[in-house]
Amino acid sequence: MPLLVMKFGGTSVANLDRIRRAAKRIGVEVAKGYDVIVIVSAMSGKTNELVGWVNETSPLFDAREYDAVVSSGENVTAGLMALTLQEMDVPARSWQGWQVPLLTTSAHSQARIEDIPTQNLNQKFGEGMKVAVVAGFQGISPEGRITTLGRGGSDTTAVAFAAAFGAERCDIYTDVDGVYTTDPRICEKARKLDKISFEEMLELASLGAKVLQTRSVELAMRYKVKLRVLSSFEEQTDEAGTLVVDEEDIMESNIVAGVAYSRDEAKMTVVSVADRPGIASIIFTALSDEGVNVDMIVQNISDEGRTDMTFSCPTDQVARAEKALLAIKDAGGLNYAELVADTDVCKVSVVGIGMRSQSGVAAKMFKVLSDEGINIKVITTSEIKISVLVDRKYMELAVQALHDAFELDKAA
Ligand code: ADP
Ligand code: ASP
Ligand code: MG
Repeated sequence: MPLLVMKFGGTSVANLDRIRRAAKRIGVEVAKGYDVIVIVSAMSGKTNELVGWVNETSPLFDAREYDAVVSSGENVTAGLMALTLQEMDVPARSWQGWQVPLLTTSAHSQARIEDIPTQNLNQKFGEGMKVAVVAGFQGISPEGRITTLGRGGSDTTAVAFAAAFGAERCDIYTDVDGVYTTDPRICEKARKLDKISFEEMLELASLGAKVLQTRSVELAMRYKVKLRVLSSFEEQTDEAGTLVVDEEDIMESNIVAGVAYSRDEAKMTVVSVADRPGIASIIFTALSDEGVNVDMIVQNISDEGRTDMTFSCPTDQVARAEKALLAIKDAGGLNYAELVADTDVCKVSVVGIGMRSQSGVAAKMFKVLSDEGINIKVITTSEIKISVLVDRKYMELAVQALHDAFELDKAA
């Protein structure tokens, strides 16, 4: 039997009506002759609520228990979706991560998928099951404990299943009708793309465009999964949505493909550390040991043998970063003067494979921000992206101004 993977995000399963609507969509594919693996998220808002409860109970929580709590939202929607399909006379069964089993590393709250044995599900498909509804976002560690795959991880569950089962396509149903040049919620001129390259999608996702989790794009690229993003709220044709494709399958593209932003950034400065070999290593080893995801790093110009080290990390990791840096204050002669956290910043980035061959994008980006009176706090670049850290109050303005300046509302 040909097989499809269909993933429904939080807003697409937010209540029983929406679950019924998604189930009808699944029924259409079953009627066409497909076996279907459905991946569901928790109802929208549920995971945030669960994370909030964990933080309130224990700010520097044990990640094993975090996973035990936050994985639970998906269990509810998986069961409800299977029941809804059964009510429509579609043979369906729900599966939690451990039952599949979806095997992961033990990196709790950010686990990576190691393997998905296909035997259990295939046996049930062989016995007449038409739809396997799998709880997204969760797996099981080698120690036998529940793990989660990081926020937005159901996308990765979906692509991993598509790869493991050789699915014809992996359709990601969400609350927008595809991938846009930037988040349509903060820029009304955002334009839907019919196709986007894996490379650009990977950068946009890793820089904050949460329409797909970064790891899902990496997996789709590596295992050549046909990946599509589309709306669960509209009637769909086979051409709907946005296809994520190889670079060579895109004929014409703008120099800049899209603008991404990440609201939850913090800038931390270790003020006045000795400027000598080994200092960066002490600081960033301590942060890494505490599980802090450091993103941008800047070392200021040295003044009389002392320097400031600035880095960015997600806002919700500031407490962990402070803990790690306080613990090494006197270690190895680090002896910094103070630790300053600025939690009122955001990251705005422009992405495009055209930047490989065209210069001047950075200059134009900085000019646009300066014309709007936006001060840049930190800059990083790579071959196909430029990111800046700016005050959070300028986030929408920066995204809209860049979208206008690079004329992203017009196709190439
Ligand atoms: P789901 O719950 O279906 O997984 P998410 O909220 O995780 O949905 O992702 C969809 C959201 O991603 C959209 O509602 C949109 O606000 C946001 N988004 C950010 N950047 C983009 C973009 N470039 N294109 C489309 N959506 C984007
Ligand atoms: N429910 C999880 C989250 O909100 C996983 C997902 O929806 O992809 O992050
Ligand atoms: Mg998501």
